[in-house]
Amino acid sequence: MRRAKLLCLIWAFLLLGGCGNDHNDHLPSAPPLAESSTLAASGLEDAGAPGAQWGVFQSMRQPKAVEEEPQGLSVYVPWGAPVFAGPNGDQPTGSFIPAEETLTVEAADSVVWFSFEGGYLYGEDLYPVYGEEIGQATLTHSLLEQRMKALEQQLPQGQYWNHADQDLPWGLETPFSITDTPCEHSLYDQLYCNLYESPAQGLFPEYDYLCQCLGFACLLSDQLFGQEAPYFFLEDYDGLRVGDHVRLWEYEHSLVVRAVDEDGVTFAEVNPDYEDCQISWDRYFTWDEWDVSYAWDIQCVITRYPLAWDGEAWQPLEEAALDGGETYSDEADWEEDSNG
Ligand SMILES: [Zn+2]
Repeated sequence: MRRAKLLCLIWAFLLLGGCGNDHNDHLPSAPPLAESSTLAASGLEDAGAPGAQWGVFQSMRQPKAVEEEPQGLSVYVPWGAPVFAGPNGDQPTGSFIPAEETLTVEAADSVVWFSFEGGYLYGEDLYPVYGEEIGQATLTHSLLEQRMKALEQQLPQGQYWNHADQDLPWGLETPFSITDTPCEHSLYDQLYCNLYESPAQGLFPEYDYLCQCLGFACLLSDQLFGQEAPYFFLEDYDGLRVGDHVRLWEYEHSLVVRAVDEDGVTFAEVNPDYEDCQISWDRYFTWDEWDVSYAWDIQCVITRYPLAWDGEAWQPLEEAALDGGETYSDEADWEEDSNG
C-alpha cells in the first residue's frame, strides 16, 4: 500500500494535462465553502438550508447515493477465499475460507471489503445468496450495479450536469444539481458547471477544482466506492472494471466504466462534446473501436479495486501471488458457468 501511495504521488506530480478545457487560468479559484454546521445532519432533507435546492453542501457530508446495504449478508465462496487482517490487500492472514462454503459477512461502507468474525474478505471473492439462489455476479459487482442504477436515476441520461439559470455564487459545490439547460461553455465558460470536492483533487494538482467531465467522474467513483477508498493506478488497461475512471490525455476527457464484457465497454460521462456537460450513461465501444478511438490516449486509469505488488507490477488482488506462490484465483478449481 505504501508503494501504491508513492506511485500515486509520483503520478500526481507528473500529470500535467488538463480537465474539461483550457479556461481554468483566468477563472477565480473556488472560495472557501460556507460552514455547514447549521445544517441538520439529515443533509439535503433540510430543504430550507441555503443552497439545498441545488445540492450545495451535499458532498461536504458525503451522503451515500444509496441506502446502506443491510447488515449481515449471506454469501457463497466458490473458491478458497483468502482472509485478510484488515480491509486491505496488504494483510493476508494466510488462512482461507474453504471453497463452496456459505457464510455471513457484515457490510460496512465499503463495496470492496466485508468483515466476519475471522477478519476481512474481498467482495470479488464472494457471491451473494438470495434465499436458495446464488447470484451470478460477485458481491462487489452486485452492489456496484445497485449504486450505478441509483446514480442513473439521480443524474439521468440526457440531463445537464450543471446549475444553469440559478443565481448561485461561483465556486459553491453543486454535485447533484441537474437541469434541462445546456452549459454553453463557448458562451458562458464554466459559469454554470457543477463543482465537486474530493480527495481525488490531489491526483490532479494542475486544476484548482474538479468540474465537467473530471468532476463527474470523480463524483461517480466516490459514490460507488466511498470517498475513503484508496486510489490505485491500473497498469494493465485491458483489465478495466466497472467504476474505473479512465483519464484521457490529448482528449482531456474523463470516462467511468459503466459496464464491460468480452465484446466491449460502456462508459458514463458528461461533456463528451466539451460544450454542454450533458449526462450520458450509454456510450459503447467494441474493443476494436476503443483501441482506435481512445485507448491510445489513456493518461491513467484510476481504480478503487485493490491492487497488490507482486514484485514486478501492480496486479489486481485476485491475480497477485499473495504469499510468493500461485495466485489464489489460479488455484481455484471453479468455472464461471457452474455458479448458480
Ligand atoms: Zn458545463
